[in-house]
Amino acid sequence: MDRKIAVVTGGNSGIGRCTAEALINKGCTVYDLSRRDISIQGITHICCDVTDEASVNSAIERIIAEAGRIDILINCAGFGISGAVEFTELSDAKRQFDVNFFGTVNVNKAAIPFMRNKGGGRIVNISSVAAVAHIPFQTYYSASKAAIESYTQALGNEVAPYGITVTAIQPGDIKTEFTEARQKSFAGDDVYNGRISKSVTGMEQDEIKGMSPVKAGEYIAEISLRQKVKPLYAIGFTYKLLAVLCKVFPSSIRNRIVGILYAG
Ligand code: NAP
Repeated sequence: MDRKIAVVTGGNSGIGRCTAEALINKGCTVYDLSRRDISIQGITHICCDVTDEASVNSAIERIIAEAGRIDILINCAGFGISGAVEFTELSDAKRQFDVNFFGTVNVNKAAIPFMRNKGGGRIVNISSVAAVAHIPFQTYYSASKAAIESYTQALGNEVAPYGITVTAIQPGDIKTEFTEARQKSFAGDDVYNGRISKSVTGMEQDEIKGMSPVKAGEYIAEISLRQKVKPLYAIGFTYKLLAVLCKVFPSSIRNRIVGILYAG
């Protein structure tokens, strides 16, 4: 059987890299779309900023020219900003959506016509538990991931007749470069009685002690290759339980608990 052609955005680091490596181990041909050229055995890197539509279009066209099709597309490129909404520059909030949400939109928009013409494909959009447990002082990050989940489910119904299946996966705390790359603002921390720094420091400690990206990557690769997928998955027992509790508890209780944990 032909090797499956997989594209992973953000495939040079963390969850994306481990997903790309897991897909190689499962016999796929893998392309990474990211900005830094980090040589990884077996992965073809294409320099691409997902916020740049022309750069995305030319990367997807190159893959089609070389490989003929895209079977699996995993949108993993992303980063986080933190800070109080009141003190966050709008340009930073927009940049958060440009990368996490519109970056995914750009890549899917470029790839879907080729998937539709070939009669199918699998799209996996990487979300976060922050999409359902809305994290204070990471409000724009949480909102960008909630947008991903809404987009994923609506898109799934649009493209289902063409054999394209779309799912979102929620990682929880994972130990990657994401923590170091977070764009933090402590503006207004004095006004907010140190709650901004306390919240973000607590989150960073959870991430540093978090799940291995290898485990997350193996799970994402396995979902990517399934015959059928549900619209949404969480990674690991704890976060699957959290996702269930978020559905069961009324939003007032759920949000109060998140507030105690992250806005105290
Ligand atoms: P990471 O190690 O920092 O990886 C981020 C990846 O995104 C890198 O490959 C980076 O490559 C790429 N990227 C960032 N901006 C880009 C852009 N404009 N264009 C193209 N590529 C870009 O972080 P990670 O933890 O693996 O994060 C991967 C995804 O998982 C993100 O969507 C993140 O929101 C999500 N997630 C992470 C956690 C966690 O605890 N780590 C939890 C929930 C969800 P370049 O810098 O070279 O472009």
